[in-house]
Amino acid sequence: SNPIQIIGGGLAGSEAAWQIASAGIPVVLHEMRPVRGTEAHKTDGLAELVCSNSFRSDDAQANAVGLLHAEMRLAGSLIMACADANQVPAGGALAVDRDGFSQAVTAKLEAHPLITIEREEVAGLPPEAWDQVIIATGPLTAPSLAGAIQAQTGAAALAFFDAIAPIVHFDTIDMNKAWFQSRYDKVGPGGTGKDYINCPMDKDQYYAFVQALIDGGKTEFKEWEGTPYFDGCLPIEVMAERGVETLRHGPMKPMGLTNAHDPQTKAYAVVQLRQDNALGTLYNMVGFQTKLKHAEQVRIFRMIPGLENADFARLGGLHRNTYLNSPTLLDHSLQLASRPGLRFAGQITGCEGYVESSAIGLLAGRFAAAERNGTPVSVPPYTTAFGALLGHITGGHIVSDDEPGKRSFQPMNVNFGLFPPVEAPKTASKRLRGKDKIVAKRHAITSRAIADCREWLGLPALPVVEEVAE
Ligand code: FAD
Repeated sequence: SNPIQIIGGGLAGSEAAWQIASAGIPVVLHEMRPVRGTEAHKTDGLAELVCSNSFRSDDAQANAVGLLHAEMRLAGSLIMACADANQVPAGGALAVDRDGFSQAVTAKLEAHPLITIEREEVAGLPPEAWDQVIIATGPLTAPSLAGAIQAQTGAAALAFFDAIAPIVHFDTIDMNKAWFQSRYDKVGPGGTGKDYINCPMDKDQYYAFVQALIDGGKTEFKEWEGTPYFDGCLPIEVMAERGVETLRHGPMKPMGLTNAHDPQTKAYAVVQLRQDNALGTLYNMVGFQTKLKHAEQVRIFRMIPGLENADFARLGGLHRNTYLNSPTLLDHSLQLASRPGLRFAGQITGCEGYVESSAIGLLAGRFAAAERNGTPVSVPPYTTAFGALLGHITGGHIVSDDEPGKRSFQPMNVNFGLFPPVEAPKTASKRLRGKDKIVAKRHAITSRAIADCREWLGLPALPVVEEVAE
């Protein structure tokens, strides 16, 4: 049959090619290196890791990315098989010998009889004659293709930098200090007048906070990244440097807000958090995009009243990153609504990280293969790591767009906030509290995910292990 075409032989494109060929369908993989390079890749190997050599935690019971590893292994992932075969010691993390890993992926794909690798740049949108295409060209998509995607999807639909504000797990916010209220109790479309979580600061707390932002350790831009500060997306610490009162007139303004716990005392400044997913398990810090180092973000943002024990689902950042506003553009099977047969995969869809990019490549490959075979496209349940990540990309993530023109879709790693919540199992002997309760909830989420993933893949269910009461 007509081959499926994949553009980009990175992590996502390599995995997609493997999945398609494993379904018995021919595939052509177009990779521009070494004909044309990117600012970050150094070799001509497929699935090159451009920075760290870590696939992060391999703990499938207590960690969301570890769970994604496990689901990918169940689905016959090439990326995971080559990572496992090229592992280097890294404690509980899965780290790899980067050259060995990339060479293994390249060798497997080159040796597969159904896979053809073309070393060429696809400049511009793929020809109409390619009826089934996956674009997996990553955060550093070559300019002519990026321009063509932008022309097809609309200028606002493709971003070239991410400006990421931190996201907090709701159940770690101290609501005895914070309160729900929209500014001036404004009721927007679908809103209640209580859409934001507000964290108050008095003058001393605010001044200390601004000083901490100025003094905090920052990450530097890579030379080729330039300094892409654009309107409305200034890093919080850059605003702090412009004058001690600047933030109080910007994202931290206290106007129109009354502290529900202490209505008489007017806050000097307020940090607002906005619901980030439909489930209400995640809240983002409004206007807090930042280049502060991750450890510094945790230290400094925990100075905010109500966030002293905050657990961050994602920390802030600002990087060169080409990605689509996927929730408005892609259907549930990663297909561009305006051009059926054209799918996207990998980081360009708005996931973040090696493992996540590979996982979305795996799904796009399976969806394209099912379509070519004339079988129904089966989407993984949202209770699995595959499904939770896919839901973030294809739309489950956005709850409101009360600030028109402001991008609310931002790239994200897989994390427990993306999963439908589950009650912590009740043990016979005692009610769980605090950290134990969070651990129990995570175990319940990961057990449910593995069971549902096996069912989705048509694998036999695992025997049920009875929980032993203490
Ligand atoms: P890529 O792996 O980048 O693959 C895209 C491929 O498409 C490339 O091989 C490219 O040459 C090719 N290509 C592009 N345009 C064309 C075209 N027009 N025609 C043909 N081929 C084309 N994630 C982590 O988990 N850990 C990290 O430490 C990490 N560090 C990063 C550092 C940098 C500088 C960047 C930019 C990203 C980093 N990421 C990291 C994020 C991300 O997970 C990786 O970029 C990941 O490789 C994305 O996978 P992908 O398959 O979507 O894209």
